[in-house]
Amino acid sequence: MTKRRLAILTSGGDAPGMNAAVRSVVRTALERGAQVFAIYEGYQGMVDGGDRIREMNWDSVGGILSLGGTIIGTARSDDFRTREGRRIAARNLIEREIDSLVVIGGDGSLTGADVFRQEWPSLLQELVERVEISAAAAERHANLFIVGLVGSIDNDMHGTSMTIGADTALHRITEAIDAIASTAASHQRAFVVKVMGRNCGYLALMAALATGAEWVLIPENPPPWDNWEDKMAADLQRGRKAGRRDSIVVMAEGARDKYGNVIGSSYVQKFLEEKLGEEVRTTVLGHVQRGGAPSAFDRNLGTEMGYLAAETVLAAHPEDEPQMIAMRGNRITTAPLMKCVEQTRAIAAAIDEHAYERALDLRGASFKETLRTLRTLLRSLPHPPAPGQKQLRLAVMNCGAPAPGMNTAVRAAVRLGLDRGHVMLGIANGFKGLIEDQNQEMDWMSVSGWASKGGSGLGTSREIPSGRDFYAIARTIEKHNIQGLLMIGGFSGYQSCHQLFLERENYPAFNIPIICLPASINNNLPGSDLSIGADTALNTIVEAVDKVKQAAVAQRRCYIVEVMGRKCGYLALMSGLASGAERVYLHEEGIRLHELVDDVEQLRLGFKLGKRLGLMIRNEDAHEVYSTNVLCAIFEAESNGLFEVRQTILGHVQQGGDPSPFDRIQATRFAARCIEFLIEQAQQPEPAGAFIGLEAGGIALHSLEEIPKMVDKDNQRPKQQWWLDLRPIAKLMSQPMPSGQMNNEQ
Ligand code: ATP
Repeated sequence: MTKRRLAILTSGGDAPGMNAAVRSVVRTALERGAQVFAIYEGYQGMVDGGDRIREMNWDSVGGILSLGGTIIGTARSDDFRTREGRRIAARNLIEREIDSLVVIGGDGSLTGADVFRQEWPSLLQELVERVEISAAAAERHANLFIVGLVGSIDNDMHGTSMTIGADTALHRITEAIDAIASTAASHQRAFVVKVMGRNCGYLALMAALATGAEWVLIPENPPPWDNWEDKMAADLQRGRKAGRRDSIVVMAEGARDKYGNVIGSSYVQKFLEEKLGEEVRTTVLGHVQRGGAPSAFDRNLGTEMGYLAAETVLAAHPEDEPQMIAMRGNRITTAPLMKCVEQTRAIAAAIDEHAYERALDLRGASFKETLRTLRTLLRSLPHPPAPGQKQLRLAVMNCGAPAPGMNTAVRAAVRLGLDRGHVMLGIANGFKGLIEDQNQEMDWMSVSGWASKGGSGLGTSREIPSGRDFYAIARTIEKHNIQGLLMIGGFSGYQSCHQLFLERENYPAFNIPIICLPASINNNLPGSDLSIGADTALNTIVEAVDKVKQAAVAQRRCYIVEVMGRKCGYLALMSGLASGAERVYLHEEGIRLHELVDDVEQLRLGFKLGKRLGLMIRNEDAHEVYSTNVLCAIFEAESNGLFEVRQTILGHVQQGGDPSPFDRIQATRFAARCIEFLIEQAQQPEPAGAFIGLEAGGIALHSLEEIPKMVDKDNQRPKQQWWLDLRPIAKLMSQPMPSGQMNNEQ
């Protein structure tokens, strides 16, 4: 039987993470026994044919995970927009017996793929009539199978919560705005920052949320006032009076007023200069947003999506509706391609018709919720309490090891609580501070600049209360009349809050609403797919591994990199997936001697075949006996001189650093929901205790009572860990060759 032949191309604007997708499609398809071709320079390459369509093997996509852009090139093609161009493209595919296509691009590219698919039978008929292909060839490939992957930094596709490249673009933007904010603060200056997004305000909105900017202008939600410029200037002035030193306006390139008139950055700059009577600077971020190494998230998104794309296209039947690969509820799945494209276009049409409510509805609930949260946070001063409103006293604390994003969550909680007219107390050093009565009232400016700051401004500790500590805690709670407690932290914080909850019968003071917000780089907390800090740590690891790999170009070397996580292998597996590690060692799986023998064999085989670099990632607690040192010694002893072995223990850099955009955004969303919970529950006679998290893509709450049922206490991790399902993909990608060929080689 002849092998299925599949081609992959990247089209439209390039996006970081496209290479991960290309690598993944190629390797998955090869593993499934197909032959794979890359079409260079997008659809233009398909029309040009010749060496623009090249067969790929396992190694052609080696070492590309960390590269920005797309190694197979992308282009916009006018030829492919014509029927003649598509007929030539069809001939080029048929000549190579290719009838399956994976297209990575934006809505234009995916529409092009669908047009091509629909015309395919008639194009082949024309080619047969013109005697350019044989009738038999046309019959062998009567249908074209397509699958779309969305590569777009704008995150503008309906039907998927993320597109490949958007997270990296957000990294570039937040880095730039953080840098601008520090110079703006030094000079007490206003800045206008323009980011990409013609019809989609995702990047501007999320960047404003992540950096604590003061004003944001996006296409889907123009300012509702006629004199919005005055309002903007007045808000900036008020912020200054309240003590802010920097004023930043973030705008999307497609920003417009409510009449649909496009708002230019120089207009905003001039207006502010006149009104504020000071120099205002504009930064148009432009193409830096597209460039650079992809974030850990985009590498893994590209890899997971590419895997499903190859599986889907190879399993497709002629009658199937063509699919796009989407992310929904933090899982990778398929969605009907053309429906998603149509809805995406409907958003652009709604914006053109000034139907902004409709545009926002089409963007989805989480976009709208983020906008609402942002509006409150952007206010330069809190609202005074409503007349007759009960003013609550709510406390915020950090527990466990520091996690990037803790400060962001505290800032959001304090400001949102103040905005609702309540008193916010900051407890220093976790439960230790609650026991020793270390707390202070927080005002609006006390958390200024915390959105982007790593570490824990409040201070944190791992203290878990017991025995007489409960008396002390009850006394602190009563003394300060604390009516709600928000714990932002890790496992020890969860355990402590659970203890307080269980001690309610003995200590009436504990009968207050309590809520835990997951913040730990280990990602080992119950009821949440992701905890705050894990994304930042993952990026830190991946960046460090990129550097380690570069340092090894000249030698044949195997690195064993040890990462944190305690008994949770999340960081190890996800960083292994994002950096192309040969092997990851997790506590969840343990390490067996016979597996090490296999690993050494695989390594030797890889190096024999010409590999120059090996990478193993070991979770710090993967095994008591087979420590990183021991693994190094075993591999070195067994290398037969084929390679040398070095270890890198990344250590505490993983807990530090400024939080990633995702961690900041998620911290803010969680904090907003936690404050709502505390306010709601404080009105109840028996207030609930809960922990918040991200489940199926949305925010979910569980009662503290569920903790024993949901956690593996001995190993301090949840009983169910969704990311373990990604192990087969990681394994497939990191093999030295398709498994079918391995036996012949060994
Ligand atoms: P981006 O979001 O970066 O703009 P895109 O995929 O939407 O990406 P487009 O320029 O719209 O970018 O499309 C890329 C290419 O896809 C076009 O140059 C053209 O070759 C092809 N294409 C787009 N629309 C069609 C169509 N309706 N019919 C045939 N080909 C199309």
